[in-house]
Parts: sequence; C-alpha cells; structure tokens
Amino acid sequence: MKTAELFRHKTVFSLEIFPPKPDADESVIYDTLDGLKGICPDFISVTYGAGGGKNGSRTIKIASDIKYSYGVESAAHLPCIGLTKEQARDILERMKSKGIENVLALRGDIPQGEAPKGDFAHASDLITFIKENYDFNILAACYPEAHPESKSRADDIKCLKYKVDCGADQLITQLFLDNRFFYEFRERTAIAGIEAPIEAGIMPVTNKRQIERMVSLCGIELPKKFMRMLERFEHNPLALRDAGIAYAIDQITDLITQGAEGIHLYTMNDPYVAGRIYQAVHTLIPAASLVS
Ligand code: FAD
Repeated sequence: MKTAELFRHKTVFSLEIFPPKPDADESVIYDTLDGLKGICPDFISVTYGAGGGKNGSRTIKIASDIKYSYGVESAAHLPCIGLTKEQARDILERMKSKGIENVLALRGDIPQGEAPKGDFAHASDLITFIKENYDFNILAACYPEAHPESKSRADDIKCLKYKVDCGADQLITQLFLDNRFFYEFRERTAIAGIEAPIEAGIMPVTNKRQIERMVSLCGIELPKKFMRMLERFEHNPLALRDAGIAYAIDQITDLITQGAEGIHLYTMNDPYVAGRIYQAVHTLIPAASLVS
C-alpha cells in the first residue's frame, strides 16, 4: 500500500526503527519487532545509513520482512549522498523486487570536512530520479525549526516546496520538543501552498546523552519545561524515562487535538517506551486495516 493514501481516511500513526549496526547480530531487530507487536502502526519506516553498504541491505530486508512477515506496511529510507545514479538504481531495483512500495528519499548528512560526492546534491534530485523511473510512493523529510544548513526559515520552506513539486507525496518532520514550532511551520507550509500531508516526528527523550547528541546533530531548541525535566531527573534514570514518556504523550495528545495529520514515533528500537506511549494515545488514533 502507498502510505500517502492513508491520510485520506485517518490520523496516521507510524513508527521508525533502525537496523542493527553492521557488526551486530541482525536477529536483534526481530526481537524489537516482536516487542512492537502490541502496537498497531499504519506503517513502520526503517532508516538507512548514508553511503550505502551492508546496513542498506539490512534496511531492505527488514522493511520487506515487516511487510510480508509481520503484515504491517513499511517504508525504506534512502539517503542519496555519495551515490551514483547506477548505485541508486541498483538499490531501488532491490527495494522493488522485495515488494517495498514506500521510499523515504533523503539527502543524508554530508560527512564533516568532505566535499559532497555522487550524482545527487539534494533529496529533490533523488525524488526527481525516482519519479522519472519508478512508481514508489515518496516520503521526504522536513524541519519545523528549519534544517541547520538553511539560510533562513523562508529559504527552508522554498526548498521544501520544490521537494514536494518534484514528487514527494508525504512529509515527516524532524523531532521537535515544543509543538509551537510545528504549528508555526504548518502555517508557513500552508502559505507556501505545500499540500502534501505532514506527520509530526516525536522522539521520546529518555536519557540525557541521547538529547545532547540530537541537539548537536539537528540544532533543535530545548524548551524551558523540558530543560527543567532533564535537570530534575538526570540522576534518576527511571524517573527520567517516565517523565520523557509523559512529555511525548503530552506532545502527541496536543498535536492530535490540534488536527495534526499524523504522528511518526521515533522508537529508538525501544518497544517498552513505544508501547507505553501507544497505550496512552491509541484511542486518539484508531487503527486502520494493516494487513497487506
Ligand atoms: P535536503 O532536502 O536535500 O535538504 C538539505 C539542505 O539543503 C536544507 O538546508 C535544504 O533547505 C537545502 N536544499 C534542499 N533542496 C535544495 C535545492 N534544490 N537547492 C538548494 N538547497 C536545497 N539520514 C540518514 O542518513 N539516514 C536515514 O535513514 C535518515 N532518516 C531521516 C528521517 C527523517 C524523518 C528525517 C527528518 C531525517 C532523516 N535523516 C536520515 C537525516 C537527513 O538525512 C539529514 O537531516 C540531512 O542533513 C538532510 O536530508 P534532507 O533529505 O532533508 O536533505
């Protein structure tokens, strides 16, 4: 199923997982997926390490298994930085042959100190390439607080509009910890005429190191309320985990109440945390038919 169709019927709820590192046992991801079985997501997306490699093969296999062994629709991420068109074609052919219908087309992060290589400078180039050659449903990334490389929020929205005009069918945001950023972003996308549905990306923050990494990587703002939570519970891991879960539930409840078209939960491969959030919000997002 092409996941963009879902938005016509319901508030979409999706999960994101990442494949085990190349040197780790592949089977651990199936423990994670087994742990997620109590959750009824509309689809599960699987990340892909920029530059291709062994993890890419894992992404394709896991995305295919989610669909055909677990009966849940899936989406495979594909960062294009460093790829030639031939390499992209090879990956997309493998995705197609494994029955994957949804691709999250990304640029990927440019490795520090390296000049960008390959045939694709931006996600929009990959989106154009996919549209011209394939019939995938295309997802793309967006940034309520603007991508850290963007010159301004206005420029960020201009590039996003171009990405959608190139063929992105639906969008997923980077995590944000203050819903205000999402609502302001939605206003900007509406003014720009961006009509693709937008899922709000929510990451439950359950440890301090995780959020420090995210802030340096994504340049997101930490609201005062969130900082107080971190400061109060940073030396009490269980309390911080519970407070982080409560914070995510609060964000999701508000987003759905305010009419967000979808929620994309960054599970961090933690079925316990994802399960607790799902238990708290599942009546707000009735399940669609998931079996393909
Ligand atoms: P782009 O859309 O190319 O944007 C990058 C920058 O270039 C922005 O500043 C944008 O405004 C600007 N820009 C865009 N198009 C143009 C244009 N045509 N001309 C000039 N400027 C332009 N990374 C991974 O490696 N693997 C993953 O699996 C992965 N999954 C992700 C999932 C989500 C939901 C999100 C939000 C991010 C994910 N990322 C992943 C991270 C992503 O690769 C990085 O954020 C990357 O830095 C930008 O990717 P992009 O696709 O948004 O790039």
